[in-house]
Amino acid sequence: MDEVKCIICEKSMKLRDQEKEWRECFFCKKPVCFEDLRYVGVWRKGLYSEFIEVVPICGNCKPKKWG
Ligand SMILES: [Zn+2]
Ligand SMILES: [Zn+2]
Repeated sequence: MDEVKCIICEKSMKLRDQEKEWRECFFCKKPVCFEDLRYVGVWRKGLYSEFIEVVPICGNCKPKKWG
């Protein structure tokens, strides 16, 4: 299996093109093409402080209030 499908638009993409054409949704781990990719900041606990890390997410995992 060297092909994956975008969870949103169902476009076929090559597995090896991860980071070039698609990325994994941070929450559901499904492949998302760059057109459907959204980014969200999440709080992460570092060694001495908390910081915001920007992670890729799919439209399904996007908080509803964003519209
Ligand atoms: Zn897509
Ligand atoms: Zn998702």
